[in-house]
Amino acid sequence: MTLTITNITNTVQDQPDFDGHETVILAEDSDIKFRAYIAVHNTSRGPALGGCRYWSRYTNDDEAITDVLRLSRGMTYKNALADLPLGGGKAVIMGPPGTRNPTPDQMKALGRAVESLQGRYITAEDVGMSVDHMLIARGTTRHVSGLPLEVIAAEHIPATLATGEMPEADPSPYTAFGVFEAMRAGVLQRFGRNTMKDLRISVKGYGNVAQTLCKLLDEAGAVVTVSEIDDGRIAQAKADGFHVLAKGMEIMSYPADIYAPCALGGDIRDETIQLLHLAGVKLVNGAANNQLARPHHAERLLEKGILYTPDYLANAGGVISVGVQQIWADVPAKETFPTHAKLMHRIGHIYNVAQEVFQRSQQTGANTAHIANQIAEERFMRRSPAKDKVRAA
Ligand code: NAD
Repeated sequence: MTLTITNITNTVQDQPDFDGHETVILAEDSDIKFRAYIAVHNTSRGPALGGCRYWSRYTNDDEAITDVLRLSRGMTYKNALADLPLGGGKAVIMGPPGTRNPTPDQMKALGRAVESLQGRYITAEDVGMSVDHMLIARGTTRHVSGLPLEVIAAEHIPATLATGEMPEADPSPYTAFGVFEAMRAGVLQRFGRNTMKDLRISVKGYGNVAQTLCKLLDEAGAVVTVSEIDDGRIAQAKADGFHVLAKGMEIMSYPADIYAPCALGGDIRDETIQLLHLAGVKLVNGAANNQLARPHHAERLLEKGILYTPDYLANAGGVISVGVQQIWADVPAKETFPTHAKLMHRIGHIYNVAQEVFQRSQQTGANTAHIANQIAEERFMRRSPAKDKVRAA
């Protein structure tokens, strides 16, 4: 097995999605069918944290490079808006066709590639990755997050911890709580009320995040309708007492006050904005990443009077949980232990950030996605083009 690591930063500078990324590497080992790209977009706030995606459907390297450039940039914005002392980065592994998860050898190779960046990039789970995969990578680099603290820093956990004070390794419940808090801010802004009671909320997807979110919404008195494509999860939603749309029915046409996309991204586009408008939706606020098919759809939503909570603001609870636990694991001490309550408090701040975004949008007339980007950009330093040239020379 021979792992080769090539710095391709200069080679990818002409790619449309290149945005002053600090470092992009290609790591490959043909003996174990390992081919991965890692992009460090920006480390001006701290080491670049972002997951590693395993994807076997890239048809060529350009697709993988586009993905890693976009995703790593997105993490800079997400971590900055969440006010974490972390930058943005991402890794993608180009899996052989038909495969869904990496092999142990590939995870060891990923760890060595991450290690070559000397802590400037911290990896974590993303599509196709589990905690078990990350534990294997942890064998070849310590720059891995999203692992249970009991596994990586057991000796530093306070012995007196009360029941329920251990933070969860799974980010999904934290993501759901953040989505809920953002929604509360959206409800105040758009409906002028402090309660979700009787509001009709359409939730697309009943996965890890949506299951907790629906429970919170139900407890808050909202009327929840779910759509799912997976039979097991449809059954689960029904067993949990939720109204589930018949398969094939379009949830975005279903009469509702709020639409919460919690499946895959990209479903907010011209036609579906019209459906949401006709269905009476006034607020879009969900967990899915990259909800807008194109950036200009934020403007289309605004024109229709639909308040949009930027996705990376609403769904930051997970990265806050992973990031705060990782920061502690780097310098563990009993006094600074990130209890579940501390994490929830920190994630609850998403409510205030959402309010700030909505108010700035109202004052300036600019759409909420634009405002969120602006706030994030105020919080990290871009490399100047001149510096790029010096480095490239
Ligand atoms: P998940 O895979 O557990 O759930 C997604 C669900 O959506 C699945 O049950 C799937 O069957 C369903 N689905 C897919 N296409 C659908 C469709 N067309 N109509 C209805 N249902 C459909 O994923 P998750 O962890 O719950 O994450 C949900 C979304 O939130 C994803 O976009 C993810 O990237 C994003 N997100 C998740 C986290 C997290 O902490 N898990 C953090 C940030 C963002």
